Amino acid sequence: MLFDLELIEETYKRLSTRVPEARDLLGRPLTLTEKILYAHLWNKQESLKPERGVTYVDFAPDRVAMQDATAQMALLQFMQAGRARTTVPSTVHCDHLIQARAGAQTDLNQALDKNQEVYDFLASVSEKYGIGFWKPGAGIIHQVVLEHYAFPGGMMIGTDSHTPNAGGLGMIAIGVGGADACDVMAGLPWELKFPRIIGVRLTGKLNGWASAKDVILKVAGILTVKGGTDHILEYFGEGAQSLSATGKSTICNMGAEIGATTSLFGFDAAMVEYLHGTQREKVAGEAERIQEHLTGDPEVYASPEAYFDQVIEINLSELEPHVNGPFTPDLAWPLSQFAEAVEKNGWPARLEVGLIGSCTNSSYEDITRAASVARQASQKNLKVKSAFTITPGSEMVRYTVERDGYLDDFGTIGGVVLANACGPCIGQWARAGSEDQKPNSIITSFNRNFAKRNDGNPNTHAFVASPEVVTALSIAGDLRFNPLKDSLTNERGEEVRLDEPSGIPLPVRGFDVEDYGYQVPSPQGESVVVKIDPASQRLQLLDPFPAWEGIDLHGLLLLIKVKGKCTTDHISMAGPWLKYRGHLDNISNNLLIGAINFANGQANHVKNQLNGKYGEVPAVQRAYKSAGLGSIVVGDENYGEGSSREHAAMEPRHLGVRVILVKSFARIHETNLKKQGMLALTFANAADYEKVQEDDRIDVLGLTSFRPGQPLHLMLNHSDGSHDEIQVNHTYNETQIDWFRAGAALNMIRQSI
Ligand code: SF4
Repeated sequence: MLFDLELIEETYKRLSTRVPEARDLLGRPLTLTEKILYAHLWNKQESLKPERGVTYVDFAPDRVAMQDATAQMALLQFMQAGRARTTVPSTVHCDHLIQARAGAQTDLNQALDKNQEVYDFLASVSEKYGIGFWKPGAGIIHQVVLEHYAFPGGMMIGTDSHTPNAGGLGMIAIGVGGADACDVMAGLPWELKFPRIIGVRLTGKLNGWASAKDVILKVAGILTVKGGTDHILEYFGEGAQSLSATGKSTICNMGAEIGATTSLFGFDAAMVEYLHGTQREKVAGEAERIQEHLTGDPEVYASPEAYFDQVIEINLSELEPHVNGPFTPDLAWPLSQFAEAVEKNGWPARLEVGLIGSCTNSSYEDITRAASVARQASQKNLKVKSAFTITPGSEMVRYTVERDGYLDDFGTIGGVVLANACGPCIGQWARAGSEDQKPNSIITSFNRNFAKRNDGNPNTHAFVASPEVVTALSIAGDLRFNPLKDSLTNERGEEVRLDEPSGIPLPVRGFDVEDYGYQVPSPQGESVVVKIDPASQRLQLLDPFPAWEGIDLHGLLLLIKVKGKCTTDHISMAGPWLKYRGHLDNISNNLLIGAINFANGQANHVKNQLNGKYGEVPAVQRAYKSAGLGSIVVGDENYGEGSSREHAAMEPRHLGVRVILVKSFARIHETNLKKQGMLALTFANAADYEKVQEDDRIDVLGLTSFRPGQPLHLMLNHSDGSHDEIQVNHTYNETQIDWFRAGAALNMIRQSI
């Protein structure tokens, strides 16, 4: 038993008391989303009537899950908090670093060789701090979480965008950055803008080739990649109840593609069945006892327009299979129109590779439906005309589908089984010939299909569809094939048709596995030594950032005045730098290298005020640091938008930047800067941006009386001897000012322990 029954019972007690209270407070019936959010408020706030999409609220999630790439910095930070154990149940999953090349075992062995030091670090740090560790090959984070930890009515954060997968079991599960995971493990609240809520009413019942994947492909077409931003999607209706729990998870998983905060379904019989199938009868029993709190109130679903911010209706009985793409997941094509779209747009019609699996579509049901297509193809003397790969989502699913003969079905028609990991879905794919950048088409049952995501080739047209449609198209080797109406010529020259797929939600003989690949954390973690080689280029222990010196800051050198857009990618580039995620000093060599210098319109070319020469941003900043001089970065509007990666705040702090002064911040980045003990300031008058000059030395005044709501002042000391004093604003509350004084939020936690 890996789940924590006591924690679930505790959450259910809170749901039972807080849901009626919230109903009284708001004076109306509640959506399921509101019930779960109210049950997880950090402090029971008697009078909280949040404005959806506006009010920021503190929550207390039940769980944290981290994948191996993002866990590195999250755990390095957590080590600084001074806690002996994580304060909420947490797990690490080794899935992102395994490259697909030759097949499951070979690829896994190579990954173990290449990433051993990272795995050793993650295993030892997990063991020490009471964190469950899922070894390489154990499975993909979201599938493993669904099989063991997700529960109806719970709240989880995860350091991966597709954390919402757990919504298929009625959980509010949200993707976050590593700093948020670290905070929650260290015992701090987690802040979220109270979301708007979109209700999706599903009527009818799926039939034929249509599957749960097609529901979300259709929703993506309706809402587009931005339509879910700051919203939670709540699915309901008899159509929702007709879907298996893993089908619901597929839908919630891909809610990330429309920017949704998360998606979820109400508790129902399919969830009970899945909980029983995954040996969690006790969780199912507990959920059944409070089931009226694990779904929206009947009045809400009877008149959804009165309670949701937007309502979408989809009739599953009429839903066609879809293919979405290329290059974006919201370009939705009903299968009947897809062949024409391929012709009209001149996309390469020959299908080179079909890939099924990933966290999105690797359940027992997905595999059995796709295998049913493969089995009949083999019976009808057909083989795949494209390359064809299968990525199981977990060792439990892989072992069981192998036992039940489904992997043989794929092998018979030419399929290759890859490791239980992300592989091609995250670009970990040694695809032969991709460096030639030839235009070509692939189709996957994954979720994202942006240019270069799978194989690094910008000319690969990646389409997304259900595993059964991917299998059918791989057999045909042609994107224009429509299995609903077209026939194929088999090896004997006969014309044959593929029958509708059929699947089984859960294995009749139950799931089985020889080795989950799970490491139980040590009950006595104090004696465990965290393994980091001091000479490592990929991992580095963090030193606490120094506390504020207690005086105003004088003579800060302008490092760069950024012109225009500056996302977290401009501040801390991805791509080849990602291998240094666990090594703050090495990854800091990408600091602001994508940002445009206002002074000369160039990227990564700034003046070193100490010698007057121009150099790369990280090199110039390192020179300032060596000279013991602080610096300041000036930015434009919405500075730090994009991903929530904490490196964008840690790197400037590590290299000695003291202040980020901008016209406006993206909120998550602003909070990340505060957590790292930086000063995140905004121009009181945006036009003062123009007053900042390339050779300025800048004083920050008023820090000794730094308090919430009170502006600070900056003195711009220009090289010609003139000065400009400007007012700057901030949004620090008392706690955040304490973080600044202590040098970082983690320093505060450590001091308090
Ligand atoms: S399988 Fe793909 S979408 Fe899922 S966690 Fe891995 S990389 Fe992310």
